[in-house]
Amino acid sequence: MFGGGRSFTLFKVRGIRVTVDWSWFIVLFLVIFWLSDFYGSLLGVPNSSTEPYLLAVASAAGFFGSIVLHELGHAFMAARNGIGITRISLWIFGGVAQMDRESDSPGTEFQVAIGGPVVTALIAAVLFAIGILTVGWAEFRDTMEMDQFVGTSGVIAMVGWLAAVNLIVLFFNLLPAFPMDGGRIVRSIAWKITGKRSAATRFAAGLGRIFGYLFIGLGLLLAVRGSVFSGVWLALIGVLITGSARAATVQTNVTSRLDGIKVGDIMDEHPVAIPATTSVDQALDEYFLRYQWSWFPVVDGGNRFLGMIIRDQVDQVPETDRTSTTVSEHLELNSRAFHISEEALLESLLGNPDMRKFGALMVTDHGGQLAGVVTVEQLGRALKP
Ligand SMILES: [Zn+2]
Repeated sequence: MFGGGRSFTLFKVRGIRVTVDWSWFIVLFLVIFWLSDFYGSLLGVPNSSTEPYLLAVASAAGFFGSIVLHELGHAFMAARNGIGITRISLWIFGGVAQMDRESDSPGTEFQVAIGGPVVTALIAAVLFAIGILTVGWAEFRDTMEMDQFVGTSGVIAMVGWLAAVNLIVLFFNLLPAFPMDGGRIVRSIAWKITGKRSAATRFAAGLGRIFGYLFIGLGLLLAVRGSVFSGVWLALIGVLITGSARAATVQTNVTSRLDGIKVGDIMDEHPVAIPATTSVDQALDEYFLRYQWSWFPVVDGGNRFLGMIIRDQVDQVPETDRTSTTVSEHLELNSRAFHISEEALLESLLGNPDMRKFGALMVTDHGGQLAGVVTVEQLGRALKP
């Protein structure tokens, strides 16, 4: 949802770093503090008993796990659509899955946005099933309402609390308050209908600001009525939402200049490319020394893009091997992916990590043939009013 402050890495799953911000510990502390009291009176055990405390710690861990799984739901859908997730960070207002670029179609945007809430709904459903199958619906409902006189076991009370918390997380995230999940879903639908991402973002961000102000108002009302903590917390979320929504609107005013422009419209056509069978020696002489560029695309006999060759790596090939090896044997690792379709929208280049690395991307047509090259400078010119 939002970016956090100082944080440290907890663990890694499939190359994704899961980090927590110090503020997240306030959440865990409050959950443990408040729930151990609750479980204590529920179980009617003496103050010296460790059972309520253990249940509270387990509940906090379950809550933490639920939020991480929610963010992994976003990450999974992003990865399926070719968007990398480098980091999931948790802080006082929840989790954020950091994507290495924005979605380039309304369908992708929708799938990534819904991925988290779907996981949260599944977690809630599983917890409900466990609760209802164990103690029946009526008792489980009372447990979720934290009715202390039900007399259920501590474990079922914990299942009930986690189910309720996941329902609250689901409800909150589905509110159409951009940049929260519900707001992103609204944006994807508006984008699908209008065909314009910037118009959709402006609409969703406008709605987000309205919700942000509502949260601030409601939070202040709660605070003066005595629920100081939840009131202040809600008001702060409101402040964050209005701020992020405003930033999204400002950014959109810039990127809307790219609306409808395709990569193929601004690229340089017929870039100089090195045939794959060229020896390293020949590549140095006829390309690197002649043009003084630090990289070249490499193509096969059919002009299909194979990858990039980099000056630094060519220089490292021993003199004795330079005539016997070809450029195709010294391609930059994974550089076959450093291309984009000429049909792609220009705005999808914004924040593209390969573009950042090279300052340029190779452009291919639908046959995979090298059609051109698009550079950061060209993108910058297109963004200027
Ligand atoms: Zn989410």
